[in-house]
Amino acid sequence: MARRGRFAPTPSGQLHIGNAYTALLAWLQMRSADGLFVLRMEDIDKPRCKPELADLVMEDLRWLGIDWDEGPDVGGPVGPYTQSQREDLYQAVFEKLLRDGWIYPCFCSRADRMAIASAPHGLSSTNMFACRCRTLTSQQRVEKSAVKVPCYRFRMPDAPVHFVDAIAGPQLVPAGHSRDLILKRADGVFGYQLAVVVDDATMGITDVLRGWDLLDSTPLQQMLYKALGWEAPQFAHVPLLCDSDGRRLSKRSGSIAIASMRKAGVAPEQVIGLLAFISGLHDRLEPMKAVDLISVFTLDKVPRGVIKVSEDVLQFVFTGAERSPSKIKQ
Ligand code: GLU
Repeated sequence: MARRGRFAPTPSGQLHIGNAYTALLAWLQMRSADGLFVLRMEDIDKPRCKPELADLVMEDLRWLGIDWDEGPDVGGPVGPYTQSQREDLYQAVFEKLLRDGWIYPCFCSRADRMAIASAPHGLSSTNMFACRCRTLTSQQRVEKSAVKVPCYRFRMPDAPVHFVDAIAGPQLVPAGHSRDLILKRADGVFGYQLAVVVDDATMGITDVLRGWDLLDSTPLQQMLYKALGWEAPQFAHVPLLCDSDGRRLSKRSGSIAIASMRKAGVAPEQVIGLLAFISGLHDRLEPMKAVDLISVFTLDKVPRGVIKVSEDVLQFVFTGAERSPSKIKQ
């Protein structure tokens, strides 16, 4: 069976250099393994997302030379590829988890939740984030439902989670260290963790390559896979891009948006050249095409730990001046 990877942007902002780097590596991982590449729009939080931004993301990716076999615009056998059109699926899985006893309604206010988080742990449960609503009787649930619409939480098992990330290495989260996830908010919106697990599983994704910031979500997702009796994909969390001071590049506004680079007349080869250099796939800073990186791609070359992108290196995108490593201040 062919491997299947994906890129899953949230169209709440413009694609920036950090997203482009994740997309490029996820695409290369599949293209170098004769796998299939899926594009999925993660617009589950509808008020924050805009269809125009989804279109712009697709334009930016194509401009960079990143294509996809299945996606919102080209369709495919396991669509739709836009989360806001997949709510029936999330609801069906939600109901299954509810029937199987994995979910309970939670009536806590924000203040209650803060109190739970700061209370001494371990009296009634080893789960330090367990909420009192876990143990309400059905009568209490009926009474509380009359005055408050609950959110729904996943009963996180008191068990350790262990998995091996293809970049971050072995990961172990001891029992009781994960909060009871909200799978459905009181306003009816499904939680990201539920949507992403349902999507990756039903889209047959075998390889999830994404940013390091999502490494913490992975044990929670593993628990959901387990509860659903589904096999989890192989995960690879790539290091985040930071400036010289260690601040995430994504927090910087303006010049790092791919659309701004396009408007400024930058060539896609300059952006790809920069990404190839900082991700260890090429040892010189020079213009390159995405397709030329397929034969040299391996996850082993991707640096471990944060990648610092100095102003000097970033400027390459705009000036196009070729540099050898010795001339680059990292
Ligand atoms: N939609 C998420 C984001 O844009 C990525 C989710 C994932 O790759 O699992 O940060």
